[in-house]
Amino acid sequence: MSSSGGPRRVFLETYGCQMNVADSELIGGVLRRHGWTRADDPADADVLLLNTCAIRENAEERVVGRLGELMRFKNARPGVQLGLLGCMASHHREALLDRAPWLDVIVGPDGYRDLPRLLEEAGDPRIEIRLDRGETYADLVPDHAPGPRAWITVMRGCDRFCTFCVVPDPRGRERSLPLEAVLAQVESVAESGRREVVFLGQTVNAWRADGLGFGDLLRRTARVEGIERIRFTSPHPSDFTEALIAAIAEEPKVMPYVHLPLQSASDPVLAAMRRDYTSDQYRAILGRLRAAVPGLAVSTDLIAGFPGETEADFQRSLDFLDEAAFDFAYLFKYSAREGTRAARFAETVDEAEKGRRLRALIDRQEEISLDKHRARISQEVRVLVEGPARRPVGCVFGKSEDFKTVILPGEGLAPGDVARVRIAAATSHTLLAAGVTSRRAPSLGAPEADEIRHLPA
Ligand code: SF4
Repeated sequence: MSSSGGPRRVFLETYGCQMNVADSELIGGVLRRHGWTRADDPADADVLLLNTCAIRENAEERVVGRLGELMRFKNARPGVQLGLLGCMASHHREALLDRAPWLDVIVGPDGYRDLPRLLEEAGDPRIEIRLDRGETYADLVPDHAPGPRAWITVMRGCDRFCTFCVVPDPRGRERSLPLEAVLAQVESVAESGRREVVFLGQTVNAWRADGLGFGDLLRRTARVEGIERIRFTSPHPSDFTEALIAAIAEEPKVMPYVHLPLQSASDPVLAAMRRDYTSDQYRAILGRLRAAVPGLAVSTDLIAGFPGETEADFQRSLDFLDEAAFDFAYLFKYSAREGTRAARFAETVDEAEKGRRLRALIDRQEEISLDKHRARISQEVRVLVEGPARRPVGCVFGKSEDFKTVILPGEGLAPGDVARVRIAAATSHTLLAAGVTSRRAPSLGAPEADEIRHLPA
C-alpha cells in the first residue's frame, strides 16, 4: 500500500537500447500483476526506478545525474524508495554499494521476477544481480506500450565477447525463449490489434530452440494471423545462415530491412575487436542478403578510433560507406568500457582525432543517406502509421516497409492504418509524402493484392 492507502505507484524511467525498453515493459507487467500502478510523475510515486544502460559512458553519466535529481523526492517523503535496475546495476554492482548506499534496490537484468518481493522487504539495500543462465522470462507477459508495433525479446545475453562490449557481463550468456513462448506472445500482440512485431536479442539471429533456428522462427511467426510485418534487431553478421536469408527473402511479412553491424572495415581492427569476420566475409554476407532480397535496406554500426586504428584503417571504414551504400548508420567514437578486454588496450587515438574521424563518417553517411532518400522521390511506399508528427501540423508519421520514417498528411489516418503514399521530398533522415493514394483501416482483413512488398533502393 502507498502512504495514501491506495495501490503503490511506481515511476519507471528507461535508458539505453530497445532491449531495455522491452525489459521495462516486462517489469511493468510484473509489477502490475502484483498490484502496482504506474505514475507518470516522480512526485506521485512511492518507488522511483531507473532501468539503466552500461554500454555507453554518456548513458551512465545521465543516470548518475538523474539519480541526484530523484533523491529530492526520496528525501521529501518518508518511505519513498529509489532503485537502480538494468545493465549499469549489474556491471557496477560493487562500486554502487560504496558510492550509492542510499539506493534501496539494485537489480540486474536477470532479477526482475523478484522485484516485487525486494520492494516489499524493508531494511538495507536489497540486491539481486545474479546472472541466471536459465532466465528467459518466457512465462511473463510484458505490458507492451500502445501503438501498432510490439517488441518481443526472443533471446537474452551474448556468447561472443567482442573486446569493446560490456554486454556479456551484465546480461550473461546467450539463451533463447522456447518457440511456443515466442509464438504465444506474437498471438497475444496480434489479438491486441498490433500489426508489427520486432524480435529482439543481443545477437537475435543466434536464436535457437526446439531444434529450430531463427529462420524457422520467422517462418512460423509469418503464419500468425493479424501480424503483417516482422522485423528483428540486432543480428550478428556471422549468424546469417542460408536458411535465415531464404526466410527473409521468401516470407513477404518479413520486412526488407536488416541492421548489419560492421564496427570497422579494417581486418586488423576487426581482429582486435574479436568480431569473428573479416571485411571480405562481411562483404559476402551483405552481397548474399542483397542478392536474395531485392530492395533490401541495410543499416550498420561503425566505431571511430578503436585502439590501434591507424589513418589507413579509418580510411577503409570511410571508403566502405561508399562501397556498401548503407541506408543509414549508427556512428560512435570509441570509449573504453570498464571490465572489457579492450579497456586494457593502449589508446592510440586521442579524443580530438576520434572526433575528426567520427565527423568524417557522419558527413559521408549523411550524403549517402540523402542520395538514397532522394532516389525514392516519385516512388510509392506503404506506411504503417504510428502517430502524429511533430511537424508539419496535421501530419502523421510511420515506417515504410524498409524502415524509413515517412511523414504524410494525417487526415483520416490513425495509428495502425496502412497507407500507400507517393514520396515528394526527402531529407537524409526522413521521406515526405505529398498525398495518400490509398489507405486501409486496421479492421480490414487481407492485404491489398497490388501492395508493394519489396521496394527498390
Ligand atoms: S555480439 Fe554484440 S552484444 Fe555480443 S559482445 Fe559483440 S557487440 Fe556485444
